[in-house]
Amino acid sequence: MSSDTRRRKAAKIRHLLETEGESVRENTTHFNEERYDAVEGFDDYEAVRAEARSIKENAIERLPELVERLRDSIEENGGDLYIADDAADANAYIREVVGEASGDTVVKSKSMTTEEIEVNEALEADDVDVWETDLGEFVLQVADEAPSHLVGPSLHRTTDDVADLFNRYFDPDEPFETAEQLTEFARDYLGDRIRAADVGMTGANFVLADSGTITLVTNEGNARKCAVTPDTHIAVTGVEKILPSLSDLGPFIELIARSATGQDISQYVSLFSPPTASPTLDFENPESSAFGTDEDRSFHLVLIDNGRLAMREDEELRETLYCIRCGACANSCANFQHVGGHAFGGETYTGGIATGWETGVHGIESAAEFNDLCTGCSRCVTACPVKIDIPWINTVVRDRLNHDHDRSKFDFLVEGLTPDEEPARLDLQKRAFGTFETMAKVGSKTAPVSNWVLASSPVRNIMDRFMGIDQRRELPSFRRESLVDWFEARGGSKVRNADRTAVLYPDVYTNYVLVERGKAAVNVLESLGVEVRIPDIPGSGRAPLSQGMIDTAESKARQVSDRLRSDIDAGADIVVIEPSDIAMFRRDYEKLLPASAFEMLSENSYEVLEYVFGLLENGADADSLSSQHSRLAYHSHCQQRTLGLDAYTEAVFDRLGYDVITSDVECCGMAGSFGYKSEYYELSMDLGSTLGEQFADKTDRTIVASGTSCTEQLADLLASDVKHPIELLVPDER
Ligand code: SF4
Repeated sequence: MSSDTRRRKAAKIRHLLETEGESVRENTTHFNEERYDAVEGFDDYEAVRAEARSIKENAIERLPELVERLRDSIEENGGDLYIADDAADANAYIREVVGEASGDTVVKSKSMTTEEIEVNEALEADDVDVWETDLGEFVLQVADEAPSHLVGPSLHRTTDDVADLFNRYFDPDEPFETAEQLTEFARDYLGDRIRAADVGMTGANFVLADSGTITLVTNEGNARKCAVTPDTHIAVTGVEKILPSLSDLGPFIELIARSATGQDISQYVSLFSPPTASPTLDFENPESSAFGTDEDRSFHLVLIDNGRLAMREDEELRETLYCIRCGACANSCANFQHVGGHAFGGETYTGGIATGWETGVHGIESAAEFNDLCTGCSRCVTACPVKIDIPWINTVVRDRLNHDHDRSKFDFLVEGLTPDEEPARLDLQKRAFGTFETMAKVGSKTAPVSNWVLASSPVRNIMDRFMGIDQRRELPSFRRESLVDWFEARGGSKVRNADRTAVLYPDVYTNYVLVERGKAAVNVLESLGVEVRIPDIPGSGRAPLSQGMIDTAESKARQVSDRLRSDIDAGADIVVIEPSDIAMFRRDYEKLLPASAFEMLSENSYEVLEYVFGLLENGADADSLSSQHSRLAYHSHCQQRTLGLDAYTEAVFDRLGYDVITSDVECCGMAGSFGYKSEYYELSMDLGSTLGEQFADKTDRTIVASGTSCTEQLADLLASDVKHPIELLVPDER
């Protein structure tokens, strides 16, 4: 990426932070908090999630058969099913149907699929008036804007914004001021259009193959009006929305509103098997009793392929088809919460899963612009009602983008020289961050000269210009003596032949930069009676994985697993300080290693405070740890939370009598290399500001963070020393 492109990206993000950020943040964090409450109050949540996932897997597997079953059902009901290969094909069919209905006016309910095919533009080219009847979509239509969110398309706008917009556009006698006034106006205005419409167009959240039933899940009630008021109803939806039968629908109705807005169920769940068996109405002659008959109704279901069937054949993108478009991945994403879908989105789709959708339906270039906004924190995985591994889809697409360059005849020269398994033309920024381990090794061997060189202005200028490493961030300072060297020089463990042996995993940061936390871990574990080993083991692959360098990450994962196998076989526990590395062992390695190797590592590795907690629970002497029970302000790490490990740190602090304030900020905004990237620096600081504000007046407390990224961000925000929890536990005499 050129420095101009980075500057352009940074400017766009800055603009969105200033104009839309506040509203997006308020709405998405509200939805997210409501979702937490809804899920907490739903006892069967995990079981229903698992059931929904299994139904989706089965339905996508059986898709060709279900399409044919659905065709029979729709035709038996008296409707038509059309499978559209792409947007042009779908629009041609819809224009034909509207033309046959002599349709001058089409009313629509909210449908991302119709956004995808740009049906409004296609119909308007035929001089058809198209009206969006969902309030959010209506606002966007008036503003001539694209949706910024799957569920709340105009949530980037405040009530005042919308009032200004409507006052300018509609010029009412009395200016609109309140949400109630705006809603009342829109209801009446759109009600007139619905009554006058020739054709109603809806999406479909789910389509049942065995009955031809479509399900519409809405909060406004406009969709069902669009479906049954005009004589002609066109439903447009993706081919992946088919479920086998009514008995499969329940889990999705349980999940969709809870995940989207935190409601137990949405205001309207409408099931139709169109054409509906109800008489048509003549609104132009309301006094007339001359109703039409249901014979006058026609129904067309347009199922859109537009790349979906190819996604079904793509092992990595297939999972995207399980998506029920609830928007929870966007609401739970810290970056999305701050910039919204106008930055974190492509031609149509927004949020974490947009990478899968955009790659599948519009092509990988559409995902390239925003794909790096996913930092892989994995909070969305726990938020997704159908358990889609959204970060992995983002990583795979990033990897494909890394390879998406024409080869030159000189590439082999470069490939032989790089410390990774990636193509020669890999973006310099990605290569720099993905091979941080090599830089750290060299930096450590040549410290302090390396630190002095890296801090010098000319070098920082070059790094900023050519690699997009922002000059406003302080670079890590490499330690001459690595943790592994220190441990060897002290003669290994001071505890021998103990009941427990722990291999302390020397992650790259602990080994070369934050060595004190490694030493602290050794001291604490030994004080609790554990024999410690620190072998010289490669980095976990987290750094290359975060840059989409999957081959390199896979190679690292294999090396780590091979090196730790004999220790694990000999009964040792693997203890990990860095949360993003324990997340590799427990989660990401599932994608990178054979099942047996993944299980071996995930079952035998522990986050360091989780391990300490376990030791204390099993009789280790808490009195052997520090008695300086200072006052703390603690921030845990995204991946630590996703894995449910943050509770162990808090429990250990509690047990040892510390006075702790824990931040409720879910993301510090640093996210590994993300906060160093010049195009994202301001976004990273904007995210961090909430955490900074929470801790700003805690000057009488020691600031504590579990993750390297959080430590760096807090140090920058507060200009203060930040400790790892393990450093506080070191016994007083050590
Ligand atoms: S990926 Fe999951 S969380 Fe995101 S919109 Fe789809 S179903 Fe919802």
